Amino acid sequence: MFIGIDIGGTNIKGVLTNRKGDIISFKKISTANNLAKIEYSICSLIKTLSSQKSGSKSIVKAAGIGSAGSIDTRKGIIITSPNIKSLNNYPLARKINKLTGLKVFLENDATAAIIGEWWKGNGRNFSNWIMLTLGTGIGGGVIINDQLFTGQSGSAMEAGHMTIDYKGKKCLCGNRGCLETYASATALVKLTRSKLKNHPSSTINKRIINDKLTSKIVFEEAVKGDLFAKDIFNEISFFIGIGISNLVNIFNPEAIILGGGLSKAHRLLLPNIKKVVAERALEGLKENVKFLTSMDFDKIAALGAAKITIDACK
Ligand SMILES: [Zn+2]
Repeated sequence: MFIGIDIGGTNIKGVLTNRKGDIISFKKISTANNLAKIEYSICSLIKTLSSQKSGSKSIVKAAGIGSAGSIDTRKGIIITSPNIKSLNNYPLARKINKLTGLKVFLENDATAAIIGEWWKGNGRNFSNWIMLTLGTGIGGGVIINDQLFTGQSGSAMEAGHMTIDYKGKKCLCGNRGCLETYASATALVKLTRSKLKNHPSSTINKRIINDKLTSKIVFEEAVKGDLFAKDIFNEISFFIGIGISNLVNIFNPEAIILGGGLSKAHRLLLPNIKKVVAERALEGLKENVKFLTSMDFDKIAALGAAKITIDACK
């Protein structure tokens, strides 16, 4: 058995799987904001998952962890993690190995997601395709001629940090106008907050009397028909469409697969994304691109992290 962990800005998710990729168990917990608590969460997730099958911890061979940020996979170090600052320059694989006794492999979370989607999801049907993970930040991965494109150090396709507006909003990475400052779940909440005072009749106002504003609330109200919430999704999808137009022109993909928590809102996002791509991408490249969502966006990155580990333990 193998464990795959996906550390997101909002939740940490874990799967227990066999070599074939059958998910035996799945758990998720919310992401803490300090390092000691994150480590504790990962260890307790591993412990809970390990005891799911036969009650014997020894059946789990190794664990794979997908984390946001740029990763030194060889050393198992998170180099930079813009959305979870406490993980900057952190030897996470070694720490979790010490705490659990398991062999631990570390990978970028979007890379883990594309590997999961490639193994068990919609990516199985294409040779040239792109995955965009829309969550707290935005990540990406690309399969070129049935090969994962990694770049020189394994950090290729930081799609969330492509420049959409060179004079634009300041991004956590230090640059300006990155896609994720306009189109991530974090950006969606900021945009909603900045415009909400001009929309007193929006049903979002009632939802946040006792609760914190989240992208989930905006999504739920948009689904129920709140026009302001729908407008927010329209604006977000415009920027995602611009980002995807750039990617279509560069990679000429057969398919774009959306993953990450925000992809749950695909019915709200995709019509405008497709419209923007049809208006902006080059003729001859844009016509046959298929738009899909991840087969199981909640579990796929954790499953991908497990797959990396299964391959490494052959
Ligand atoms: Zn950036």
